[in-house]
Amino acid sequence: MKQEYDVIIIGGGPAGMTAAIYAKRAALSTLVIEKQPFCGGQVLNTYEVDNYPGLPGIDGYSLSEKFQGHAKNLEAEFYTGEMTDLLDEGETKTVVLKKGERFKAKGVVLALGAVHRKAMVPGEEELAGKGVSYCATCDGAFFRKKTVAVIGGGDVALEDAIFLARACKKVYLIHRRDELRGAKILQQKLLSMDNVEICWNSVVEEIVGDGLVNGIHLSNKKTGEKTELLVDGVFVAIGTIPDTKALEGIVDLDEQGYIIAAEDGATSMPGVFCGGDCRTKQLRQIITSAADGANCIFSLEQYLSTR
Ligand code: NAP
Repeated sequence: MKQEYDVIIIGGGPAGMTAAIYAKRAALSTLVIEKQPFCGGQVLNTYEVDNYPGLPGIDGYSLSEKFQGHAKNLEAEFYTGEMTDLLDEGETKTVVLKKGERFKAKGVVLALGAVHRKAMVPGEEELAGKGVSYCATCDGAFFRKKTVAVIGGGDVALEDAIFLARACKKVYLIHRRDELRGAKILQQKLLSMDNVEICWNSVVEEIVGDGLVNGIHLSNKKTGEKTELLVDGVFVAIGTIPDTKALEGIVDLDEQGYIIAAEDGATSMPGVFCGGDCRTKQLRQIITSAADGANCIFSLEQYLSTR
């Protein structure tokens, strides 16, 4: 495998895959570096994608395969590894990976995506993997005919609750407000399910268990009432945080850790562009990530042509 490319793309989610497709169509030699063995990012763990044009209801794994298959057909190259440093050497950038590997490129697209936000409550860390999960499609099968709680009120929490309610005896959705954030169509579906109960204005104060999760302690923010629910599993779905730790001090980040990027994807490092959930933006969806990937390559081509 080569050590130098026209473009290196960090991240194999929708932004990275689209960037790879556009880069190959622009005849740029292209390497995609993804830290997981499978490309797809968060989409991989999505049971059903309902809003990608032309592919209604496709499962996340199949959509990820389609994205990567498309990039592979165009002969984009792939490497599994985690970026730990990005060096600006003027016309060349060097990407340094965890095991010491180094790759050089004329331009870089950062499409690092995001990781799960933790609930930061007692019991969460100790019981992670023992009933506490961050991925309903990965772990839901362990809770067939059991009782679970999903924490959150966004699209992911609603999708997870719907997915789990199909197999579980009972699903509690724990939300800190009296209004859900997720898409109306998901709200309607969830509210129509008999085995789902929503605990409004409620926060989890503790996850309890003796080796395995057996309950949660809730507090009602409006009434102050404390309750305990007996559950076998807790799915934490309270949003994501950008996966940008490796870039602190390298490119400009906002106070939440998102990479500050302009409309054209440009970051504070010339020749480095950014797209997808790790960048500052209004709407984080598969389609907006894909659009970012295309935009980054268009901008990168312009950057390369003016050097
Ligand atoms: P999100 O939209 O940011 O929602 C996070 C939810 O968790 C919110 O309801 C929030 O409450 C709650 N929350 C946040 N911190 C909390 C805490 N510490 N304790 C308790 N609750 C907390 O995140 P998401 O659902 O993971 O979705 C991430 C992005 O992906 C969104 O932009 C979403 O639209 C997108 N997405 C899209 C699709 C799709 O289009 N098919 C599918 C999945 C995800 P508040 O509402 O009170 O803030």
